Amino acid sequence: MDKGAFLERARAGAELIKMHIELGHTVRLISHRDADGITAGAILARAVAREGGAFQLSIVKQVSEELLNRLASENREIYVFSDLGSGSMELIEKYLGEATVVVVDHHPPEKESFSNESHILVNPVLFGANSVRDLSGSGVAYFVAREMNRENRELAYIAIVGAVGDMQEIDGQFHGMNIEVIEDGKKLGILEVRKELRLFGRESRPLYQMLAYSTNPEIPEITGDERKAIEWLRSRGFDSEMHYWQLREEEKRRLHDALVLHLIKHGAPKEAIDRLIGDVVISPLYPEGDPRHEAREFSTLLNATGRLNEGTLGVAICLGDEEAYRRAVKMLEDYKREQIEARKFIIQNWNTVNESDHAYVFYAGKSIRDTLAGIAASMAINAGLADPEKPVVVIADSDEDENLVKGSARTTEKALAKGYHLGEALREVAEKLGGEGGGHAIAAGIRFPKGKIDEFIRLFNEALARQLRGEQGESQG
Ligand code: C5P
Ligand code: C5P
Ligand code: C5P
Ligand code: C5P
Ligand code: ZN
Repeated sequence: MDKGAFLERARAGAELIKMHIELGHTVRLISHRDADGITAGAILARAVAREGGAFQLSIVKQVSEELLNRLASENREIYVFSDLGSGSMELIEKYLGEATVVVVDHHPPEKESFSNESHILVNPVLFGANSVRDLSGSGVAYFVAREMNRENRELAYIAIVGAVGDMQEIDGQFHGMNIEVIEDGKKLGILEVRKELRLFGRESRPLYQMLAYSTNPEIPEITGDERKAIEWLRSRGFDSEMHYWQLREEEKRRLHDALVLHLIKHGAPKEAIDRLIGDVVISPLYPEGDPRHEAREFSTLLNATGRLNEGTLGVAICLGDEEAYRRAVKMLEDYKREQIEARKFIIQNWNTVNESDHAYVFYAGKSIRDTLAGIAASMAINAGLADPEKPVVVIADSDEDENLVKGSARTTEKALAKGYHLGEALREVAEKLGGEGGGHAIAAGIRFPKGKIDEFIRLFNEALARQLRGEQGESQG
């Protein structure tokens, strides 16, 4: 990607924000409800505060007309969207045409640029970046913040927590401009990257749970079975109650070898073996054993707050609020338990899946919470239920509106190589169904009326078929 051109755009965004701070305007921040969005919001909030500015921050699930209507009625001079907005550029122009708007995002954008001169899109995809590998929403926010003030490099660890939350290092290592964020953090001594076991639980879970909870990748015969995890560890001479961070380097290596051997013996796919051990980011800003000490545990803690509509609590944690942290830890148990239950549900009910030429569509009703649909779709792939070359959509009843359903689509690099782009397909299908949809090539989402699931299945399959034939989406002309 063209880093120089991207940084220039980040600087333009930074200067607009600083100008409004100097004018005494409150900066209106709107960010996405997952770990990436929460960290992006926290980074921008801290950057505004550092310049002596005031901000008001909301953490939202998506950009809707209703949200834009509400924002417009606030009559702010400047709105800054982070980890969202690129898929809603025309709507933003329609509702916030009078104000300055900075979109700080990494989703594939609806168009190259805003038509409105006071609106600016800071998005690395415009400069050749891969939206799910090279930089997350928090990373884009980091570079805008760094352009506002070099002191904001102290936010590098928070930015990487967001990247890990978005699975930017899913193949086992960081890429693109994520590496520059890491280098900044290393120089300041606020983060460290090690080659370790890339599973949730390094700090706060006993080893047997770290293994039994592993769904990305799955560990054959161990994922989902704590008893087997304990036996497996004991038979190899490990104390299953120890935490990974407490192991000596030699013990970690022995555990890695045993796990890799186990995966090979069980015929796990090469991709799964490759991503088991790789880049793990830890920060000396927090003590060992604290979930905030390691980026994956930190990001999961933030996702747990977002899921319960407490995303601003997550922002407070990023800004150093210890009381917010203690409250969030209590939410984490339920969040992990729900993920395990979602996995069980989809495995037990996979026989009800609709499989067409190009996709699996699994309707979970109310049995899987709509915010966990994406995780469930990944689980179906990682658990080997789905052919990895065929995209998976998990649909759940919407938490907010009983007439709507929420679908999350996930797939693999192998499927993308065939020519699929899930974000484009869902955007096109949503237009036809009277819903909203979009996202990345490998991970995307949609909301649409509940009565239209059969129509969705047909349209989605048709859209994917056209992509394989190399045809443009119908709605894009
Ligand atoms: O897929 P998505 O980014 O929505 O997942 C959000 C978060 O949920 C991940 O960053 C990770 O912390 C957690 N997760 C998990 N196990 C999975 C998938 C996701 O713990 N199998
Ligand atoms: O909303 P946003 O951009 O923050 O989230 C990105 C989504 O893409 C996450 O749910 C993440 O888990 C998913 N992802 C994926 N596979 C990848 C990379 C990201 O499913 N290889
Ligand atoms: O890895 P897997 O569970 O397939 O191993 C089968 C058997 O081999 C286990 O019951 C275990 O006792 C033994 N084994 C071992 N040490 C290893 C690998 C396997 O004791 N490093
Ligand atoms: O909602 P879900 O986690 O399935 O979304 C996957 C990805 O698609 C996320 O990056 C999300 O921000 C994006 N998305 C989007 N537009 C939508 C729905 C989801 O860009 N309407
Ligand atoms: Zn993101």
